[in-house]
Amino acid sequence: MMMHRVSKGRVRRWLACGLVLSMTSGLGAEPPGLEVGLAVREITPEVPIRLAGYAGRNRPADRVDHPLVVQAMALRNAADNRFVFVALDNCEVSRAFMEPVLRELARRHEVPPGAVAVVSSHTHSAPVIEATLIDMAQPSADERQRIQQYSGRLRDTLVEVVGAALADLQPAALEYGLGRATFAMNRRVYKGDRVVFGDNPDGPVDWDVPVLRVKGADGATRAIVFGYACHGTSVRSGDDWYVVSGEYMGYARQHLEELHPGTMAIYLTGMGADSDPSPRGLLVHARRHGVELAGAILTVLNGPMRPVRGTMKTAYAEVELPLVDPPGRDRLEADAQSADVHIRQRAQAYLKRLDAGEPLPRAVPLPVSILRFGDDLTFIVMGGEVVVDYARQFKRLLANDNPWPVGYAYEVPCYIPTARLIKEGGYESDSSMIYYGFYGPFQTSVEDKLVSCVTAMATDLRTP
Ligand SMILES: [Zn+2]
Repeated sequence: MMMHRVSKGRVRRWLACGLVLSMTSGLGAEPPGLEVGLAVREITPEVPIRLAGYAGRNRPADRVDHPLVVQAMALRNAADNRFVFVALDNCEVSRAFMEPVLRELARRHEVPPGAVAVVSSHTHSAPVIEATLIDMAQPSADERQRIQQYSGRLRDTLVEVVGAALADLQPAALEYGLGRATFAMNRRVYKGDRVVFGDNPDGPVDWDVPVLRVKGADGATRAIVFGYACHGTSVRSGDDWYVVSGEYMGYARQHLEELHPGTMAIYLTGMGADSDPSPRGLLVHARRHGVELAGAILTVLNGPMRPVRGTMKTAYAEVELPLVDPPGRDRLEADAQSADVHIRQRAQAYLKRLDAGEPLPRAVPLPVSILRFGDDLTFIVMGGEVVVDYARQFKRLLANDNPWPVGYAYEVPCYIPTARLIKEGGYESDSSMIYYGFYGPFQTSVEDKLVSCVTAMATDLRTP
């Protein structure tokens, strides 16, 4: 941990963000000397298996459309600071799921906190995993056992793929560009005083398609990293709802790898938790959006891209996001009798804590990191299902830093709404909290807290 280049005033601003867990920096005069390592493992499940992300599904998937993978891209600068993006074909991971994986990675590779960011693609057509929204699916005992087996293998594979990427580190050069795809649709529709799901063409979206080309010492393209800010929910009905698939991002990856043989295409999910693909319904919609996204990326790759030459620097913090006060025992006991199994289970979990003398949740810790390459490119990497207002704010406030917002990173404790969404209510700020096991909503101050923390971290890493 190297803190010597940070002034006192800045450290104080940082501490206002919460717990600063690690910070690395380049040595100033060092040559760029960037190295990149890549690795991929297949993680396609055996069917039948329950799929994650929808409470409405009532049986396991019985078909696989195309393989699921986990990829790792390790980065190292000349000062031996390392950062690993792990792109995972799954809905999301929780802190409890990741804990043993991160412990093992720290033991084997001495990576500091925050240096490994698992970014879930948020495909809603991948298996349910342990300790992650498992009650949303209400699996049977037999289905639970399959989930456990898959989860054990997935944890081992995550450790393995990160190790393989770190072992593959070799000199690399980066190029960055920005494209555009327009299938992300704001999904918050205002009906009287309620917010319901639907297509809202007037609502905010982020249609940017950031693209990073990773080239080897010989100039050949080794990887194409791309992002998009939209749920992996093209498929939501009929028999297709019970098919394993990587969703639109998986199809985009397939097209890119077919057109660029020997190249790894890596998807990093953006901040678009209040966007759904449009149109949507069947696998054909996921394929269609995959074609559009791949086309946008190819346009960027075929045009002039800007070199990313700046020295890599990283910072990582956990921000405490305050919830409103938890309900009293009376309300919890009433909810524990609810006809809705999800409301019942949330109340039962809170009552269990009360009975054990444990404090009820009053805040949610959220991992946030910055991965900065001089003034050329700045990844803003956050946990949770981050809504699009954040992406748009970061792009405005940090316009000169070439920001690339990444959500669903590290772990997903719940949705991360802005003050606007908290005031409006609806799924992302209110009813989704039931599945995540929290009584909410968040206090509206979470927005200021996150935005000031991210901007302070990003600007502190600016090249002086
Ligand atoms: Zn979601």
